[in-house]
Amino acid sequence: MKGKYLLTLLLAGGCYYANAQEKAKPEDTEVYTPVPPEVKPAKKCGDAPSDAIILFDGTNLDQWVMADDRNAAAQWTVEKGILTVNKKVGNIETKKAFTNYQLHIEWRVPANITGTGQGRGNSGVFLASLGKGDGGYELQVLDSYNSKTYTNGMASSIYKQHVPLANPTLKPGEWQVYDVIWTAPVFGTDGKLVSPARVTALFNGVLVQNNVELKGPTQYIGQPSYGQAHGACPIKLQAHGDKSEPLSFRNIWVREL
Ligand code: MG
Repeated sequence: MKGKYLLTLLLAGGCYYANAQEKAKPEDTEVYTPVPPEVKPAKKCGDAPSDAIILFDGTNLDQWVMADDRNAAAQWTVEKGILTVNKKVGNIETKKAFTNYQLHIEWRVPANITGTGQGRGNSGVFLASLGKGDGGYELQVLDSYNSKTYTNGMASSIYKQHVPLANPTLKPGEWQVYDVIWTAPVFGTDGKLVSPARVTALFNGVLVQNNVELKGPTQYIGQPSYGQAHGACPIKLQAHGDKSEPLSFRNIWVREL
C-alpha cells in the first residue's frame, strides 16, 4: 500500500513537471522594463556619445582646477587642441565629483622623450582623487614602449596593485587611448568598507584590467588599505616630478553610471 502511494505521487509529480514545461512560453522570460535611455553614439569611435560630460574638448580648462588649491584655475597649457602637463604647478582635477563612471582619455608622450623607467613620461589618471598631492587611486600613465620598469608600475597598471594583462603601448609621439570603467568603493554609515573599488580598463582597445578589485587608494610605500571612507571624488591628472619632457592629453569625456 505504501509503495503504491509513493508510485502515484511520483507519477503525479512527473505529470506536473511535464505540464509546467509544456505551458512555459518564450514570453515568460522576456522583459520590457526598465527601458535603457537612448544615447546617440559619436560618429567617430572614441568621440563623446550624446550623454557624456565633456571634460576637455581642446579649447579650455573650464572643467578643471588645481588639485592642491581648488579655488585656483587649472594652469596647464592648452594649445592647438591639446592639454600639456605643467610640471611646475602640480596636479589638476575636475571641478565635478563622480561616483561610478565610464571615462575616455587620450594621452601622448613626446616623440623626443628622454629618461628611463618611472622617469620617462610619467603621469597618471587618479580615478578618484583623495585630496592633495598624489592621494587617490592611480591608473598609471608612462612610456612603456620598449621601456622597462616594475610591471605593476607600467602604463595601464593600477599603480602597485594590478599588472596590466597586456602591453599595447604605442611608441612615443603617438596618441594612446584609455577607456575605463570605475566602480567606486562603498562605505557603510559606520565608515567601514562595504564593497571595494573596481576597475576595468582598455588601453588602445585592448583589455588590460578586467574588473579588478582594489585594496585601497594607491600607496607608493607600503600596503594599500581603505583607511578613510569617502563619497564622490574628482578625477585628477598627475604632474609627475620626473625630469622627462611633459606629456599631453586630449579628448577627455566621462559618462556617469
Ligand atoms: Mg604616475
